[in-house]
Amino acid sequence: MIDTALNQDVCDAALRKELEELGVKLEETDIFLTHMHVDHCGLISRLKCGGNKVYASEVDRVYIEAFQLPSHWKWLTQTNTWCGVPEEHALKPEEHVAYSNRPSFSVPIETLRPGDTLACGDYTLSVVDLAGHTPGQVGLWHEPTGSLFSGDHVLNRISPNITTWDLQHDYLEIFCDNLKRVRSMQIRHLYPSHGTPLVDIRGRIDELLEHHAARLALMESLVREAGRPVPAFYVAKDIEWSKGDKFTDISIQQKWFACSETLAHLRHLVNKGKLYSQWNDETLYFSPFPFPNL
Ligand SMILES: [Zn+2]
Repeated sequence: MIDTALNQDVCDAALRKELEELGVKLEETDIFLTHMHVDHCGLISRLKCGGNKVYASEVDRVYIEAFQLPSHWKWLTQTNTWCGVPEEHALKPEEHVAYSNRPSFSVPIETLRPGDTLACGDYTLSVVDLAGHTPGQVGLWHEPTGSLFSGDHVLNRISPNITTWDLQHDYLEIFCDNLKRVRSMQIRHLYPSHGTPLVDIRGRIDELLEHHAARLALMESLVREAGRPVPAFYVAKDIEWSKGDKFTDISIQQKWFACSETLAHLRHLVNKGKLYSQWNDETLYFSPFPFPNL
């Protein structure tokens, strides 16, 4: 089984019904998690049973286990602070979709690295690095049939969220590099974790790369037009989200995603030498010019 679903009764029941129809026994079914988002790993505390195994990348396993730690949820609040989000727009940790849908408790997870292989019947699948959407997202590749199970790396209708997981990495850069690498693979079948298989794989990857290039240009121009150093919130609130919705019209959960995605883009612009950044208290400000004292 590749990925599970949210930790909800309705998801659990639907998944078990499908397995029954396939004649598959859960206790004989190993589970491969493409990444740590709860719509992929949320059910593992219900589905790990008998001798079945749960696999994840060694990077994302750390995040899945951290769901049980209070310190992990403080990170969500910290992101609000990094972005300079005013109190009325700030998501509280317990309001985050991941909080109520996370696994109920930790289960043993076997770790995998890119390049490792997994045997499944007559198939040998290799683990591929698809990091960017999460720090350690991985997929499964079956070269003889050109089949890639790609998690949330390339999606049909939406652009996968790129957020600011930490201040050490440029996750937009990592994501785009992995998009280009996947584009160069000889893929005949691409199975995303949401929606239907992709048909025009390279066309969709080009759309995603163009989307982020356009976002970067727009965000850079908003910082340049501001006339003063601004935090990520200032930029996020003036951008359209989710097919043209204004920032004021999206949910507080979506505002959190929007701000952290904006922060990831702005930090990428700093990484590329297009903008400058400086901390003021715990908020990161951006400017087209070297900073005077804030
Ligand atoms: Zn995801």
